Amino acid sequence: MTKTMEFKGRCLCGEVAFEGEAPDEPISTCHCKQCRQWGSGPFDAYSLPLKNLQFTAGEDAVKYYESSDFARRGFCSKCGSNLFWHADRHPQWKDRISIAVGALEQQLA
Ligand SMILES: [Zn+2]
Ligand SMILES: [Zn+2]
Repeated sequence: MTKTMEFKGRCLCGEVAFEGEAPDEPISTCHCKQCRQWGSGPFDAYSLPLKNLQFTAGEDAVKYYESSDFARRGFCSKCGSNLFWHADRHPQWKDRISIAVGALEQQLA
């Protein structure tokens, strides 16, 4: 059995909120130029199966920017918080999503 963890998160203004339970996997950090330009630093992300992410508020307030041929970056259209990286057009990765660790409540406490 894989260990799971419960998570909760939201953007800065609270318009977008989400939660879920997913395998407890280590945080990954991306240092690519795009991530650094997007967030002014390395992008710390928690990656999980897309189906394990449930929105509790504001799913339609999330806007997506197509940042490459295969991936898009999601942010709150009200406050601009960076929230998601999703390789929605990548054959192997499209069923997973990465959440910006800064949006998780474990980090906000
Ligand atoms: Zn917001
Ligand atoms: Zn990156």
